[in-house]
This record gives sequence, C-alpha cells and structure tokens, in this order.
Amino acid sequence: MFKIGCHLSTEGGYLSMGKRILSIGGNTFQYFTKNPKGGRVNKVPDMNDVAALYELIKSEGMTMPLAHAPYTYNPASKDEAVRNYSRDSMRGELEFLENLPGSLYNFHPGCHVQQGVEVGVDFIADMLNHVLWEGMQTTVLLETMAGKGTEIGRSFEELKMIIDRVDPAFREYLGVCFDTCHTSDAGYDVIGDFDGVLKEFDRVIGIDRLRAIHLNDSMNVPSSHKDRHAKIGEGNIGIDAITKIINHPMISDRPFYLETPNELDGYEREIALLKEKRI
Ligand code: FE
Ligand code: FE
Ligand code: ZN
Repeated sequence: MFKIGCHLSTEGGYLSMGKRILSIGGNTFQYFTKNPKGGRVNKVPDMNDVAALYELIKSEGMTMPLAHAPYTYNPASKDEAVRNYSRDSMRGELEFLENLPGSLYNFHPGCHVQQGVEVGVDFIADMLNHVLWEGMQTTVLLETMAGKGTEIGRSFEELKMIIDRVDPAFREYLGVCFDTCHTSDAGYDVIGDFDGVLKEFDRVIGIDRLRAIHLNDSMNVPSSHKDRHAKIGEGNIGIDAITKIINHPMISDRPFYLETPNELDGYEREIALLKEKRI
C-alpha cells in the first residue's frame, strides 16, 4: 500500500483530520502537536474525539499519523530554561500520544548556537534519555535538517551521534524522518543519485531507522542550506527525482508526508499525481 498524506491543520479536532485526509485521497497525515510558533496555552484535547480518530484509522485501514513538535523547542539550547521547556513539553506530548498507539512523533534536533555540535548533540541525547521510556508505543523521529544557521542534523553523521548517545534500552523507540527538501539543501544528491543517498544513509545510520519521509520539492539548489519547500514538481528536485523517491524499494513501504506550500485542494492534486507516479 502507498502510504501517503500531507500536513493538516488541527482546526476542527482529531476526527476531522482523519476525515479530511480520506476526502482528498490520502491514508495518513501529519499535524502540529501545538501551535508551531509557540503559544502558551495547550488546548486540552477532547478524549472522545481522539478515540473517534483512532477508530476511524483502524476501520479504514489507515496508517497512524505523524505528530510534529513545535519549532519553538530547542533541546540543544544553551539556555537551561529552553532545554527544560522542550523536554517537559515533549514528555507531555509523548504521554498523550499513548492514546493514539503506534503514532510517530517528529522533532527538529535543534540549534547549538555557538556551543558547537558536540555540546548540542549531548544536550539532545540527554533530553531523549528523559522523555523516552521502555514500553512506549510511539516512535520518536529526528528530522534531517537543511543546515540553516547552527542546525544540528545537517548530516547523517550528526543524527547518528545523537542516536549513539541515547540509552541502548531506548533506541528501539528512535528513528529518523527523511525530509527530501532538507537533505537536498544540506548537500546530498537527492536529485541525481537518490539511490546513492539512501545507501549512504544505510551505511551511516542503518535504513531500518528511516521511518518516514517528508516529501517536498525545494525552492533552492543543493547545498544552499536554505530550507524553503516548493510544490511537487515546481522546485529544483523535480517530478522525475520525486518519482524515483516514492518508488525506491528500500523505502517504498514507509509513509510519505507532503509539507508543500498548499491548501487542501493543492494537496489533493499532489496526492493524485503521486498515486499516478507510484508503480
Ligand atoms: Fe519539520
Ligand atoms: Fe520536514
Ligand atoms: Zn523545512
């Protein structure tokens, strides 16, 4: 089965997102756990609504959704208050996700801001050692980053450093979300040699850790370190490379999530196009 969906607004609640993705031809979706730019008040979710979404997912044979952490978290910050806020919020979200067992949860590893990669990586691994627990039902994903500013996760090696510093008992709950725009912007040859990029991922991290794909075209050229998503086929990656990505045998069973600059109708068209291109 082609597991395909897009980022959805949480407006209307949980069941509403499940119905919305089905209505545009998808079978999984991504959503922000909170307002992505922050905001202090986290609306208390209606547990009946959450349960209704879970029922729908099961009855329709959908793939469990991917919850995306807000951009305000920076587990690599030199400010202890920011680190603690990121840790405590993430732990709360992961506890909540036990109500949607089998969920994926994705976060940006963070920015080290002048402290250096080593220090940042230690802080991130330390946070993971506090928010993960044995027996949890969610898989937590580190996202591949474009390398804007001091972002950690610009290379597979940096993600591997984090994973290696997490308690071995918790590593089974860890994976990577491969963002096609970010990895191209970071300098990997996603356009010309996606097969080679995946082999490199496998060599450095292990392909089993790759649990989800953010499927985006890029407004910028490879190695730009910019992170500007484009619509499918309208950026530098292009539809030919994207067709290879969704059909690559090493990852074709993973869920693909669009984060392209679109409203719902645009996503509907992209999902239809990708289904056409899927072998
Ligand atoms: Fe992201
Ligand atoms: Fe992404
Ligand atoms: Zn991005």
